Amino acid sequence: MRLSRYFMPILKENPKEAEIVSHRLMLRAGMIRQQSQGIYSWLPLGKRVLDKVNAIIREEQNRAGAIELSMPTLQSAELWQESGRYDAYGKEMLRIKDRQDRPMLYGPTNEEMVTDIFRSSVKSYKDLPLNLYHIQLKFRDEIRPRFGTMRSREFMMKDAYSFDLTREGAEHSYNKMFAAYLRTFDRLGLRAIPMRADTGPIGGNLSHEFIILADTGESEVFCHKDFVGFDIPDERTDFDSVEGLKAIFDKWTSLYAATSEMHDEAAFNAVPEAERLSARGIEVGHIFYFGTKYSETMGAKVQGPDGKEHFVHMGSYGIGPTRLVPAIIEASHDDNGIIWPSSVAPFDVVVINMKVGDEACDDTCELIYAALTKAGKDVLYDDTDDRAGTKFATADLIGVPVQIIAGPRAVANGEVEVKDRKTGARETMTIEAAINRFVA
Ligand code: ATP
Ligand code: MG
Repeated sequence: MRLSRYFMPILKENPKEAEIVSHRLMLRAGMIRQQSQGIYSWLPLGKRVLDKVNAIIREEQNRAGAIELSMPTLQSAELWQESGRYDAYGKEMLRIKDRQDRPMLYGPTNEEMVTDIFRSSVKSYKDLPLNLYHIQLKFRDEIRPRFGTMRSREFMMKDAYSFDLTREGAEHSYNKMFAAYLRTFDRLGLRAIPMRADTGPIGGNLSHEFIILADTGESEVFCHKDFVGFDIPDERTDFDSVEGLKAIFDKWTSLYAATSEMHDEAAFNAVPEAERLSARGIEVGHIFYFGTKYSETMGAKVQGPDGKEHFVHMGSYGIGPTRLVPAIIEASHDDNGIIWPSSVAPFDVVVINMKVGDEACDDTCELIYAALTKAGKDVLYDDTDDRAGTKFATADLIGVPVQIIAGPRAVANGEVEVKDRKTGARETMTIEAAINRFVA
């Protein structure tokens, strides 16, 4: 992508409305724009990051055996009347009427809809287990939308829904998502700790929130320090192994970890003082097992091996991609801007032409840009006529992991400078060596 032809509206000044660093940096880097309270457009740079986050979420959901579909944002109120949640959900639900005066709503979650899909076609235990997910916009009319896309009214959610014949089966499905979440957040460069959680309006009795420790987090959390160093299940994890996944779940729930709603002062005080961690955190995922709550009210039954009808056991599993993007920034930035983990960086590398119009600089940059693009890298080429200082500031602000800087003096020697955004380390090397770092 040539920066001169891209759309990346950088802000020079710090936006006054932004209270936390991620919100400030997302606005300054031209990633998002607020359209009305708590409702955002994702501008091209932000969209790239969001797409990469979603790609990782999708890969890990698929690896764990979940199947992607797509459900609409607008739902008929009827389904929610069946489950009894239409009235119970309260003011967070945006209720609308269509031209025939039929009550509709902008979905805050999809338990009812997916249960309806399930009951319309699954009739036998032989078709279980089943886990269906989508990555879709949700709307919740939050009392206090704030911190940019961290808590917005319209936001994206990956929501998965599992169906099993028995409670034991449902626990295995729960453990699959538990392990998939550990892997997902790790690949996003985050350390998320599963904490026992309240089940809220979704209902049910087994639930964990995945929390990232951050001073700007809205949740108050208490946990054992050792979680910070626990191993993440690797990519050879067998998601069909009941014992294997149970062992992962047991290990990751063996020590104290709870949000303030579930906090047990006495149990926490039993943890040796030096190992107690009480901190603030950002909830990036939440998983629930809620048994037959929806299958009973909505009549989702399958025939079991005994020939009888059984209400299915369900769970639901949410991750917030539009919250994760600012959460990653909260965890990884410095005074100059964002520092993206390479897995979600909007570009792999930025090529900075220090003297546009200088034939040697132009040719060198074009050569590198073409070679890296051909090698399948996402390359941003700063071919604008901004001053060098502005170009450096922009490259640092948008947080691309590697910068290749082509200035007239180095280029005359057949060299460029390669800068690591995270460490700031700069290295001069031949043009070929710079290309090979990415191609090899
Ligand atoms: P919170 O306690 O932060 O209000 P929640 O418990 O209402 O969240 P869930 O119903 O568990 O949220 O939704 C699953 C995930 O969706 C959350 O873990 C979070 O990542 C994301 N999410 C929920 N509400 C919002 C929001 N208003 N803005 C952005 N992301 C959200
Ligand atoms: Mg929650």
